[in-house]
Amino acid sequence: MAVTYDALVVGAGPNGLSAGIVLARAGLSVLIVERAGTLGGSARSESLTLPGFIHDVGAAVVPLAVSSPFFQSLPLHQHGLEFIFPPVALAHPFDTGAVATLVGSVSDTARTLGRDGGTYEGLLGPLVRQWPGLAHDLLSPLQWPRHPVDFVQFGIKGLLPATILARRFKTAEARAMLAGMAAHSFQPLTSATTAAIALVLMAAGHHQGWPVAQGGTQSIANALGSYFKSLGGRIELNRQVNDLSELPKAKAILFDLTPRQILRIAGDRFSGIYRKRLENYRYGPGVFKVDWALNRPIPFLNAECQRAGTVHIGGSLEEIRQAEQMTADGYLPEKPFVLLAQPSRFDSSRSPAGKHTAWAYCHVPNGSLVDMTERIERQVERFAPGFQDTILARSTLNTAQVEHWNPNCIGGDINGGNMDWRQFLTRPIVSFNPYQTSDPNLYICSSSTPPGGGVHGMCGYNAARAALRGTFGQ
Ligand SMILES: Cc1cc2nc3c(=O)[nH]c(=O)nc-3n(C[C@H](O)[C@H](O)[C@H](O)COP(=O)(O)OP(=O)(O)OC[C@H]3O[C@@H](n4cnc5c(N)ncnc54)[C@H](O)[C@@H]3O)c2cc1C
Repeated sequence: MAVTYDALVVGAGPNGLSAGIVLARAGLSVLIVERAGTLGGSARSESLTLPGFIHDVGAAVVPLAVSSPFFQSLPLHQHGLEFIFPPVALAHPFDTGAVATLVGSVSDTARTLGRDGGTYEGLLGPLVRQWPGLAHDLLSPLQWPRHPVDFVQFGIKGLLPATILARRFKTAEARAMLAGMAAHSFQPLTSATTAAIALVLMAAGHHQGWPVAQGGTQSIANALGSYFKSLGGRIELNRQVNDLSELPKAKAILFDLTPRQILRIAGDRFSGIYRKRLENYRYGPGVFKVDWALNRPIPFLNAECQRAGTVHIGGSLEEIRQAEQMTADGYLPEKPFVLLAQPSRFDSSRSPAGKHTAWAYCHVPNGSLVDMTERIERQVERFAPGFQDTILARSTLNTAQVEHWNPNCIGGDINGGNMDWRQFLTRPIVSFNPYQTSDPNLYICSSSTPPGGGVHGMCGYNAARAALRGTFGQ
């Protein structure tokens, strides 16, 4: 308690660790305090099922980690981080036996889309060429973009609901692939900006691929933690913060937490107006998560699915649209849209020889306690008959269990708050400096700030820069 730090960070998720790195690199003394026994937040991997099987409990496939201008600037490779790029980023199978794939360059993918190849090239080609500049602008807080023309061109398409953008395509395959990408938004596909999520994921996929981290996503957190410590930073694990008075003195405190938790810990430090605005912050749908230990690879009927790191299971655009709409309306679809990853196919360190892991979740209403295991497994079986015979063990988490594992996942929301058009860039409140609270020395650095969910560290980077300016005059 006697120690005084320049800055404290509460929470050692990817954004807390990133904030710590920026502050320590600026020559400040920094302590990160984390409630769990392992750093990483929703970027942790654990042996959930059987000995020798490593599962990504949270994030598994990390396109935004390789696109992150901040992560790119760090020597994470020297701290043990290796990315593995599956040959097919994404496969989206259909009942007809056909499959849509996101693979290699835009023209490689366009070639697989038949009549829609030209439309696809017209839509994604310019975006991918502009991607490095656009990635910077899209992952920064609300500000005048560095590449305004590219930004506006992106915005014209990105603001659309995915169902409207999909009308450009003639084939069911291309439309459904776009729908699956847009469903990562956790929004009904008829909502504005759902096209933006789809376009970002597709452009990132063509530019850098959709990798997994060797050894599990935990390797990203470990590399960030190891680099942070090499800069002189300290991390204290197993220390839950319930009140600011428990913390050592510091000039600035950054919370890698969501508004509801921050209000509990530091609400009395905020102005009435600011407190009210944080209270109005909205959380989105949750996830039901399954991890499997398998005695062989998933027997997908289509060979392209076997070469894919990620498989979107949900059939046609209409089917995915209905499933996501039901979830948003508070119901549970019989045929949920399932996001599935199979890291052990490309990373032999995840399972004993010849055995495999698989990871999946579907969206459910916030706080739902319904067990979706059977529905998820039925969806996988639909495109991979015999899947259930491959299961050696499984671990499941409903929304309450996800939140128990990481209290930032309120009601199972994995993005630190709803990512609809109103909270997409303006989180947690509408402000040109959303990282600084009404107390000028308290900051928010979690995915509840722009650019939101995903393993990219940009919220932490942006928040730490705001703290350097706001508290340390740097
Ligand atoms: C099931 C699941 C699947 C996902 N899939 C992907 C994916 O495939 N790709 C992707 O890019 N992203 C994915 N994500 C999202 C991504 O993991 C998160 O957006 C990202 O981890 C957010 O980082 P963060 O640092 O803001 O917060 P978090 O990672 O949530 O870290 C917050 C930290 O704060 C700690 N904490 C909370 N309360 C306290 C307290 N009172 N005192 C001290 N410490 C506290 C927590 O223990 C945690 O370590 C997934 C998340 C989940 C849960």
